[in-house]
Amino acid sequence: MPYSGAAVKTLTELHFDNRFARLGDVFSTEITPQPLEHPRLVVASEAAMALLDLDPAVAGDPLFTELFSGHKLWSTAEPRAMVYSGHQFGSYNPQLGDGRGLLLGQVINEAGEHWDLHLKGAGLTPYSRMGDGRAVLRSSIREFLASEHLHALGIPTSRALCVTGSDTPVYRERQERGAMLMRLAQSHVRFGHFEFFYYTKRHDELKKLLDHVVENHFSECLEHPEPYQAFFREVLERTAEMVARWQAYGFCHGVMNTDNMSILGITFDFGPYAFLDDFDARFICNHSDHAGRYSYENQVPIAHWNLAALAQALTPFIAIDQLRATMDLFLPIYEAAWLDLMRKRLGLQTAEESDKELIQRLLQLMQSSAIDYTRFFRELGDSPTEQALARLREDFLDIKVFDDWAATYRQRSEREGIDHEARRTRMHAANPKYILRNYLAQKAIEAAEAGDYGPVRELHQVLSRPYDEQPGMEHYAERPPEWGKHLEISCSS
Ligand code: AMP
Ligand code: MG
Repeated sequence: MPYSGAAVKTLTELHFDNRFARLGDVFSTEITPQPLEHPRLVVASEAAMALLDLDPAVAGDPLFTELFSGHKLWSTAEPRAMVYSGHQFGSYNPQLGDGRGLLLGQVINEAGEHWDLHLKGAGLTPYSRMGDGRAVLRSSIREFLASEHLHALGIPTSRALCVTGSDTPVYRERQERGAMLMRLAQSHVRFGHFEFFYYTKRHDELKKLLDHVVENHFSECLEHPEPYQAFFREVLERTAEMVARWQAYGFCHGVMNTDNMSILGITFDFGPYAFLDDFDARFICNHSDHAGRYSYENQVPIAHWNLAALAQALTPFIAIDQLRATMDLFLPIYEAAWLDLMRKRLGLQTAEESDKELIQRLLQLMQSSAIDYTRFFRELGDSPTEQALARLREDFLDIKVFDDWAATYRQRSEREGIDHEARRTRMHAANPKYILRNYLAQKAIEAAEAGDYGPVRELHQVLSRPYDEQPGMEHYAERPPEWGKHLEISCSS
């Protein structure tokens, strides 16, 4: 179908331009989605539909569910399963790939952006290994909610168009129902794609992949005298800034294997993720991560480690001393970005030498008193400084240490001016009221598993405006019940 250029499209007007398929069969394998029985729409994101210029009304069309559950296919879609490898929990796994998802096709929107349509849970592929190629409703809803919420928080991420449920049984620890997630991203290339061609010693293909990624996603690097070097630096910078945002907002990815690291520096493939409830630097969200390799505080050194794995795969094309010099930039870039975000969370507009210490002292205090990481900052901005500190003080166990910190913070804040209204607006724009807590997702999932999609849809709506006061929705901003703090989320999905 010719590209119409219309601002609002119907489902049949999507224009496919499958650049990854054109790279050839070495990079991906042709495959058709295997549909599930009696598909139904669980939830859709209008904001994600807009990326494809889709009219929001088309979510109500039965064709929407048929297309995004693999029952019908656009004639120009060219579905493929991608091959990659990667380091999982520190060990190299030479053969991974799209084992339960596929790249349905690549759509070009009116703004000229390419968006990959990746259908997760679409059945067996040549890379399914021992798996069944399926995804369950629970994990599809979790990824959907987090994708759209992370985006609304201002954290770069893959997006989610919709979840479809079905009657097909899928067996995990218990019998569940199969579901599919329609994921969108401007690229599905992972660090592990580069590792695959590096470790199989196919440097021609590796170069082809590298050129594809640089030309299509990092074209500004082509202006640089050493484009590959500029590309690696850009990936490192984006990754450092992304992790700074995770840390600042308490997001734990859960399974930072190199096959789950996007080359675009966006949050990607987060199965057993969590947002911190109480601040805990050692928090491990993935129940299968016994050693805590991917604990909240380890996300920073692990991102650096993962970049080293990518650097290794780029050694045929970039001098090792250049790669090393770039690797050394990671921590300074990360720290500057993190400090900037944390200052904003504290309502500080200027930078002072002692800010890092002020923030670290606060985090230690929050840790020892099990303070809710989201509510603390929102409350701090809600009332004038003095009043807010007096209220928050009640939650700390060691009042004396808190008072010492509060005295420093009070003096520091005074140097920023005293206009309360301006401070509140500024702080609320940096401190979400609503955060995707595990227990909220869990309650919505239980309702969906029982056939009621209302709670998932409402939760999605609330979380897509996390910084706004939403009258009537305050119960979503409450501290979690005790049971909700100890949910066990594993890789099994
Ligand atoms: P993940 O932990 O989701 O990042 O997946 C790691 C690897 O296992 C990827 O190659 C996935 O495609 C594959 N995989 C995960 N679950 C399944 C499944 N149910 N069936 C087939 N492959 C799977
Ligand atoms: Mg993965």
